[in-house]
Amino acid sequence: MIEGQIVKVSGPVVEAGNMRGARMYDVAHVGEMELIGEIIRLEGDKATVQVYEETGGLSIGEPVVSSEEPLMVELGPGLLSSIYDGVQRRLPELSEKFGDFITRGTTSDPLERDKEWEFVPTAKVGDVVSEGDVLGYVQETKVIKHFIMVPPSKGGTLAEIKSGSFRVDDVIAITEDGVEFRMVHKWPSRVSRPVRRKLDPEVPFITGTRVLDTFFPLAQGGYSIIPGGFGTGKTVTEQTLAKWAEADIVIYVGCGERGNEMTEVLTEFPQLEDAKNGLPLMERTILVANTSNMPVAAREASIYTGITMGEYYRDMGYNVAMMADSTSRWGEALREVSGRLEEMPGEEGYPAYLATRLAEFYERCGRALCLGSDDRVGSITVVGAVSPPGGDFSEPMTQNSLRIAGAFWALDTSLAYRRHFPAISWLTSYSLYLDAIEDWFEENVSSDWKQVRDKAMAILQREAELQEIVQLVGPDALPDFARSVLEVARMIREDYLQQFAFSDVDAYCDLSKQYYMLKVIITYYDVLQEVLVKGVPLKEALSMPFKSRIARMKDIPREKAPEELQALAAEIQNELRKLIKY
Ligand code: ADP
Repeated sequence: MIEGQIVKVSGPVVEAGNMRGARMYDVAHVGEMELIGEIIRLEGDKATVQVYEETGGLSIGEPVVSSEEPLMVELGPGLLSSIYDGVQRRLPELSEKFGDFITRGTTSDPLERDKEWEFVPTAKVGDVVSEGDVLGYVQETKVIKHFIMVPPSKGGTLAEIKSGSFRVDDVIAITEDGVEFRMVHKWPSRVSRPVRRKLDPEVPFITGTRVLDTFFPLAQGGYSIIPGGFGTGKTVTEQTLAKWAEADIVIYVGCGERGNEMTEVLTEFPQLEDAKNGLPLMERTILVANTSNMPVAAREASIYTGITMGEYYRDMGYNVAMMADSTSRWGEALREVSGRLEEMPGEEGYPAYLATRLAEFYERCGRALCLGSDDRVGSITVVGAVSPPGGDFSEPMTQNSLRIAGAFWALDTSLAYRRHFPAISWLTSYSLYLDAIEDWFEENVSSDWKQVRDKAMAILQREAELQEIVQLVGPDALPDFARSVLEVARMIREDYLQQFAFSDVDAYCDLSKQYYMLKVIITYYDVLQEVLVKGVPLKEALSMPFKSRIARMKDIPREKAPEELQALAAEIQNELRKLIKY
């Protein structure tokens, strides 16, 4: 046993002497209270431990014991519907035992030990199985089958495989060499789980939010960031995505910003209904929560705990969406600990390795051919909120995230102020996945999807240029063509991009409806140009009663949308053309 003594305490960082033999990133139990921490620096026989619980009350000389293993995440049936803290302790269980103030140094089993699961074997005696191969499954929740796989680097010829009710620790299969398989296994949270091969991001991650899917799409296995100042809609966007985005499994990692924000998430989330089947959303969700009264260092652990569980479900062949709100809190944890370690500070006090840490973390998302012989494909898509102080996107956390993100959804304070929601700026946001997923859209939505999208984007950009002129000379001085651009751009903004997250009909808009809605507006634009060329005055063209019908497109039910919207586009064409006098 490696047991040393505390020689120094500095906030969440504790230095211990007499720790020869300890290893980097092993878990250590600190003090009489046995607070949980990780060894993050070794020098001679001194070990520095980052502690994931409040360190107040620790004193010099108290013991520090290395557990001689890294921070592990327990993986097995029972993860879904759970609410964990950053080191995978079950929060509801702890608060039942201790009330709202969790006694320090307490532990809780990540998975329920006594619960029995009905294991249905799919492999049989004599099968040669290796890492990633499926042994069988349990119905974890009503909506998710949990496949029990051979853990990485294990395998053999099955000598026995059971069927029936088992607890997670029971042996369910044994190889001829005596290797035992259980439904649970552990995995170090800082190590990414292996896959057979990473795949290109060519399938979109469909969110049902028009501005995202049509203008700045994210690919399955991609990574996007949502930076935005306070109150611009980061949390609403993350939660809308958790609810509606096309993912089998949702992992929501929350690091509270305001005092009771996480408490809201913890009480609200379990009540959310899954839009797809009416069951509780928690049936396919795991929450990892750091309330703001937990020490900063725990935020760092939570992000790794979250993605490790995500990788586990990806390995089963599921599409996993991980929402991290907000990654800035994680950056702050790195900064605080780095400061305590007296490292040379980089930009704005963040450690110089901030960029590397972020890149290493986001490397873990992706679409992949999973381990195992049955060609399963799974993915982890990460959407990370960033909260730059004062809404200033030039700060290091936003800039460093931006460098690696594939999609950038910039929340704009002035849009939020005007109550244009989602307040995602169409002028500064971008997506690097557009080209990669264009083919998918052309095959599955429409062959002119990209053309329609690009045209709408060009109109919005033209509007921004024209606005500058309008500010100088007023709108009336503009020629009819320019004013028609302004009119159609307004339509795109108000009747297309604005999407109320709390609306029954419009919170989710499927791709087909998205396409036909935009097609109506672009048809309107094209015909307007056509009739203007033929001498029809803009005023007359705009007086046609289409505007209000376009404004109500959002309310058309999904099933009826393609038909009704195609009819509307045809009508616009016919009626406007009737204005042509010669
Ligand atoms: P942040 O997390 O960036 O501080 P929130 O996500 O809490 O901001 O959003 C602040 C408020 O903005 C919400 O309470 C809500 O009223 C409004 N809001 C944000 N996004 C939307 C949306 N898509 N639809 C409707 N309202 C929204």
